[in-house]
Amino acid sequence: MIKYYSTNGQEAGVTLAQALLTGQASDRGLYMPDRYPTLDRAVLTTMKDKSYATIAYKVLKPFAAGTFDDDTLRAACESAYDFEVPLEQVGDGRQYLMRLDRGPTASFKDFAARMMSRWMSLLMRQQGGRLVILTATSGDTGSAVAHAYHGIDRVDVVVLFPVDEVSDRQRRQMTTLGGNVTTIAVNGKFDDCQALVKQAFADPDLNHIRLTSANSINIGRLLPQSVYYVYAYTRLADTAAGEPMVFCIPSGNFGDMMGGVIAKQMGLPVSKFIIATNANDEVPRFLETGQYRPIVPSRVCASNAMNVGHPSNLARLVDVYGGWMDEKGAIKKQPDMGRMRSDVYSVSIDDAWTRRTIKEAHDRYAHTLEPHGAVGWAGLQHWLQTDEGNAHPDAPCVSIATAHPAKFPDEIRAMIGVEPEVPPSLVGLDEMAESFETMDDVTYERFRDWLNQRYS
Ligand SMILES: *Cc1c(COP(=O)(O)O)cnc(C)c1O
Repeated sequence: MIKYYSTNGQEAGVTLAQALLTGQASDRGLYMPDRYPTLDRAVLTTMKDKSYATIAYKVLKPFAAGTFDDDTLRAACESAYDFEVPLEQVGDGRQYLMRLDRGPTASFKDFAARMMSRWMSLLMRQQGGRLVILTATSGDTGSAVAHAYHGIDRVDVVVLFPVDEVSDRQRRQMTTLGGNVTTIAVNGKFDDCQALVKQAFADPDLNHIRLTSANSINIGRLLPQSVYYVYAYTRLADTAAGEPMVFCIPSGNFGDMMGGVIAKQMGLPVSKFIIATNANDEVPRFLETGQYRPIVPSRVCASNAMNVGHPSNLARLVDVYGGWMDEKGAIKKQPDMGRMRSDVYSVSIDDAWTRRTIKEAHDRYAHTLEPHGAVGWAGLQHWLQTDEGNAHPDAPCVSIATAHPAKFPDEIRAMIGVEPEVPPSLVGLDEMAESFETMDDVTYERFRDWLNQRYS
């Protein structure tokens, strides 16, 4: 049975159930699987004609063994993944966009949130009691989590969001649900929201409330995100030959990328992960120099869900490459930077470059990109011009489109004069009534008192 250890190394391995329900380890490290099941060529070849839900089941089964039985897991996969996962060819070569924007809140966050909510509700049914999911969002986590958990028995959801950093539609997706979902507008940045959440988890005065996270510090966010890498591979690569593939991932907290890294650890042939950030370039700099400096406060960019100056999942990447980064971002043991650089290439794309890319993709290929997907596409195009990219002109390349353009209509209209078509999941949203709490000048003490009053 796979156990989950803490990147800080002070805790014995736990089961998936424990890792899901606690979120963060007691030593404030992040959980990682202690072993990886193998996805060899034969296995990948058998997946070529299987549905997304079936691939999800096969990939997740070994990680969930001991916590969920096979039938339960299969049913959860079938009900969570009932939407399309398009792979769109761009141009006439082997470059593709993987559109992870067809779920109910139109961002890739639906993939993990929908599986996690099913897992947690199953666990609460087994164990009894109530759970409070506390999450900070820079836009899409909040809505995906709120939707995935809305109306779920025995679970309450509290979402904190930076009032000036989310788009209207992103906000409405969270504030129009009500019921067991409470949203709080914080007069600050995403990092302030994240800091409040982290402090609450570490606060002994809140021990009587069963708090857990749905942020990508929870391993339950990462495991489901390994599935779409496997899915894309089976559709686009020569599985029997073990052909290597390139993925480009527009990144903020690096949870999406960690899903890919987990898939590679399982044996998925990935020759390169291209990690594209917006102007928050702490990770490209880290890869270049080996020195890590968080960006405080984080920079505000058009790709708002990626405005992260200190990505929590970096500690996991460092761990995979044999190093140790603590919860404050201090590197206690340097990872193997050579090996990391050979697997990962990272580039920062600023807003001007992002806008240029949206325009180019529209004019040249008639594809409408939104700011996050455009950062990814720009990163892939950039890498293809490097010596290494030039040396692999025929490799299948996938750039991940993490959100639907209709979530950012103002930017798209301003850049290419196009009104993005609204997908069915967003229809009617603009007319629904919103309700949320507001915290100006929020201090941790005020937030703690609010939690205590509400959920004690
Ligand atoms: C969350 C998000 C990202 C960044 O994903 P990470 O896992 O935090 O790196 C990128 N694009 C969109 C649209 C998002 O919602």
